[in-house]
Formats: sequence, C-alpha cells, structure tokens
Amino acid sequence: MPTERGISLDFEKRFEEQQDVKGRLFQTLHVMYRGHYMKLFLSFIFFMLKHSPVWILPIVMANLINFVSEPEKYDTRMLWINIIVLTVVIIQNLPSQMLHISFMSKAIRHVEASLRSTLIRKLQHLSISYHSELRSGKLQAKVLRDVEMIEIMSKQTMLGVLPAIMNVIVAISVTATRSLTVASFFIVAIPISIVIVYFFKGKLTQRNREFRQQVEEMSGQVAETVEMIPVTRAHGLEKIEINKMDSMLQNVRGKGYRLDITEAFFGASNWVAFQLFQVLCLLFTIYLAYQGKIPIGDVVLYQTYFTTILMSISGLINIYPQIAKGFESIHSVSEILFAKETQEYQGRTKLKQLHGDVLFEDVFFKYRDTEKHVLQNFDLHVKAGEMIAFVGESGAGKSTILHLLTGFYRPTSGRILMDQKPMDEISMRSYRKKIAVVPQNTILFSGSIRENIAYGLADVTEEDVLQAIKMANLEDIIQELPEGLDTKIGEHGDRMSGGQRQRIAIARAFIRNPQMVILDEATSALDNVSEKLIQDAMKELVKGKTTFIVAHRLSTIREADRIIVMKHGNCIEMGTYEELIALKGEFYKMKRASEAVS
Ligand code: ADP
Repeated sequence: MPTERGISLDFEKRFEEQQDVKGRLFQTLHVMYRGHYMKLFLSFIFFMLKHSPVWILPIVMANLINFVSEPEKYDTRMLWINIIVLTVVIIQNLPSQMLHISFMSKAIRHVEASLRSTLIRKLQHLSISYHSELRSGKLQAKVLRDVEMIEIMSKQTMLGVLPAIMNVIVAISVTATRSLTVASFFIVAIPISIVIVYFFKGKLTQRNREFRQQVEEMSGQVAETVEMIPVTRAHGLEKIEINKMDSMLQNVRGKGYRLDITEAFFGASNWVAFQLFQVLCLLFTIYLAYQGKIPIGDVVLYQTYFTTILMSISGLINIYPQIAKGFESIHSVSEILFAKETQEYQGRTKLKQLHGDVLFEDVFFKYRDTEKHVLQNFDLHVKAGEMIAFVGESGAGKSTILHLLTGFYRPTSGRILMDQKPMDEISMRSYRKKIAVVPQNTILFSGSIRENIAYGLADVTEEDVLQAIKMANLEDIIQELPEGLDTKIGEHGDRMSGGQRQRIAIARAFIRNPQMVILDEATSALDNVSEKLIQDAMKELVKGKTTFIVAHRLSTIREADRIIVMKHGNCIEMGTYEELIALKGEFYKMKRASEAVS
C-alpha cells in the first residue's frame, strides 16, 4: 500500500510531465485517473450486473404475460426458466452493488486524497510571489471545495450519467431485436423529450435564481441588523430598522410564493407532458399488438422501457449542472497543478556555515506585473557581525530588501552574495536554516506556546525551549499561565497580546540559534514596559550576528553599526546615528519630525 506521500509525489510528477495538458479537461482527468482504469472498469462491470434487473424484469414480465395469454404457444419449461433467471438476477444485486461501489470508491477516494495532497505540496513549492498574487482564501477553496466538486462530479458520472446512458442503450437495443418499429418510435421520442425537459427546467432555474438572490440578500441584512443593534439602539432607530427588515421579508415572501406557484405549474405541466407521451407510446404498442405485429406481453415491456428512457434523459439533464461545475473545478485546480512559478532560487550548494558577509551588487528589483523599479542601483557591503538598520518613509523599499535577503524574491538584475557566494548557487533550504526572520506580523498557529516556539524543529530539548523563553523575556508570562508552556494559544494566537506575540517570535528566532537575523520591527505601538522587554530581547538575539533591521523606533537605531536611509529604492544617506545627526540631512529631518510628534 503506497503511503499518501508516495501517491502525491507520483501525481506531482505526472502533472510536470504533462505540461501541455493545461486547459484540456479530459486529459487532466486522464492524468488523475491513470492507473485506476482497471478499478473503474470492474466497477462498471459490477454496475451492469447489479443494474441488470431493471432491464431483465420487463423482459420476464413480457414473457410471462405472453405465456398466460397464449399458453398453447409456449413450453412450461420457459415459465420456470424465466422465474429462476429473475430470482437469480435480483439476488445478485446485493454483492454486485457492494463490489461496484467498492471499486468505484477506491478509485475516486484515492484520486481525491492525492489531488489534495498534490495541491498542498505544489503550494509549498510555488514561489512567494505566486502566493502574494492569489488570495489565500482562493487557494483554500481550490484545495477544499474544488476537489470536492471534482469528487462529486466523478461520483455523479459513475452513479448517474453512466446508468442513464446504459439504460437508453440497452432499452433501445433490446427493443430493436424484438421490433424495429417500436425501436424507431423510441429514437424519435428522445429528442422531443429532451426539448420538453429543457423548456420546463429553464423557466424554473430562472425563478429559482431570483429567489436565491433574495434570500441571500435577506441573510446579509439580518446579519447586519443584528450586528448593528447596539448602534441602532443608541440612536433610537429601532423602528426604522424593523420596518426595513419587514419590507425585505415581505419581498422574500412574495418571491417565495411566486416560486412555489411556478414550480407547481411547471412541475405539473412536465408530468402531464410525460404522461401524454407515455399514453401515446401505449396507444402505439397496443395498436401493434391488436394488429398482431407484436405479442401482448411485449406491450408491458415497451411501456416500461419507454418510461426508463424518459426518466434517464430527464435525470441526465438534471445532473448536467453538477458535471459542469466539476469541469470548472478541474480548470480551477489545474491552474495550480500546472503553475510553473516555482521558487526563485534553485541553487544546490549546501551552506555549512554562514559568517554573514553580505554584498548587494548593483541590485535592481521590481515586482512582477509592475512597471516601477522598487530598488535601483542598490549597492551595499555588510561585514560579518554588523548590525544594519534601514529607515525611510513608507514605500521606500525597506521590506523589499528583507524579502530579497530571505530569498523570497530574486533581483531583476544585479546579484546578492553571501560569504562571497552568489545566492543563485546556494541551496535556500540550507541557507534559511541558518537565518532567523522575525516578521512585522508574527504568525502563530493554534498549537501550544511550546509548539509555536519550536515550530519545525525536530529535536528540541526542554532546556532549549526554556533558554529561548528566558532570552525572549517571556518567563513571567509563561509563569502566569495555568498550563505554562503547554497553554494553547487559540487559533492564530488570538489569546496573545501584540507584545507577547512579538516576544514569541523572538523566542522562535532564538531557539534556531541563527547566524544571521532579519528583523522587520512591528510598527504597532506598545506600552513602555512591553517595548523595553522586546528591545532587550532583540538586543540579546542579535549580539555578534549580522543583523538587518527595518527600524521604526529610534532606540533600535542607536544600537546599529550603520543606518541606511532609504528613499525611492535608493540609499541616500549612510552612517552611524551620530554621524547622520551631524550631517543634518534627511535622517536629521526625520528625527526632528518624529520628536515633534511625540
Ligand atoms: P517599505 O518597507 O519601505 O515601506 P516596501 O519594500 O514594502 O517599502 O515597498 C516598496 C514598494 O514596492 C512600494 O511602492 C510598494 O507599493 C511596492 N510593493 C511592495 N510589495 C509589493 C508586491 N508584492 N507587489 C507589487 N508591489 C509591491
């Protein structure tokens, strides 16, 4: 039994091999189901067996009626044979149904799991720029909803489409062997019945859509009204809100009533049309029987077959929207499966050590699909162990430099060297293990504090965690918590304050024992105590390591070996805090402005 991992690896490779498949739905399906055709085939065979009573029962019935209407023409043995066949055919339905579903489910469930797993792997491997372009909600929908739609479509095909098509084929074929006249009648009837169903369904869909829109509007309104209750109450506007809601409800009532009436009318008309059609068939076959062209029992056979054909066609038309949705979902999923925006850097040289000598050589950078260069002509040499602070107005390109350092993006031209090695040659995974990134917004997941700090590290001792906590000034918080380190922090770290989150992020950086630190200071204002605790923890973290900080607080900047003042993607001033103050340039102005504010 292959592991889930093995399955998806195989899948990912298949899609990579078939890059030209994009957009071709059936070929995408083929890639997904390749290797499962035997299961689908067996499922089909057992389906035919389990479904056979539907086709055989009318034949037996016809034979039996023929026998009783003209006993002298038939052998009694035939009577017994028919009854035995019927019994066997009915009883075999149970095992056949089980086997049919079992083979089908194995194939479909396997494809479902592999597809999700492949999507997740692919998302992990796609570049950060790809992720920043697609909203995460959209990606989630692809992994969850679209895969479900594909699964439903596959099931509907096997359980709805296939039986309906087989019903039509078998009914017409059996009829053709007995009476070509009746078979021709069936063939003429099919397109007419399609037109009838389509006509009535179209009208209903439109009314349905109108009603659904109204209901959605109403739910939105209800949610808003409930949310607004304190505001409404405070302004004494209850009456107005109640009236607004009432008129909306009246509207829904009206639309709902009209929908019910339309449904009743079209539902009944549809039924009447179908029944008249069947009466026509009955008259036709009765006439043939009266003329002696067909045996009397066959009238029952044809009548049953005709009903089956009509039901099958109407079923097919009803399933169609779901199949169409499935195809849309395949298209949507294939956007990811065939995406080629893999990671920016593909280097393979593993880093054993990172001293932290960093060189930016004439770096230009612009984000994809934008015109403007965010960084231009950027040159900077950072010696190992230096602490560099970036300052400058918002949009100057500070965070972009940190993204380039993390390897999320590659310079459009120019290059970045780490310890004299171009970043292009370095294996990013080995590089990133040696750096710690503390982003502006700490992202926490719903586990315990311990899990959040040790995220992704396999062999972390209790001492390591405690040490990191001590360094990050988190000790007092943890002591206050009832379950200490094992306290769950709620989804996305809901139960943590901004300052606490930042310190968890710093602890996360500490425990990795990084050789280089990349820090995007949070802009959010903190109380003085939190501010001090964070500053102290940061100072401890960056000691002796090459450090890049996007600084928003002057206290951080004072510690820096060099401050880089950025403007429009360029370095306009550079020096220590004192040097820049003495220069009385841009930095001096910024400082004066910030002092004026505080
Ligand atoms: P800073 O950190 O100095 O405020 P950034 O590096 O975040 O500046 O942004 C520099 C410029 O790049 C801004 O003009 C911003 O609008 C643009 N930018 C940032 N991220 C993206 C992105 N993912 N796609 C396109 N443009 C971006």
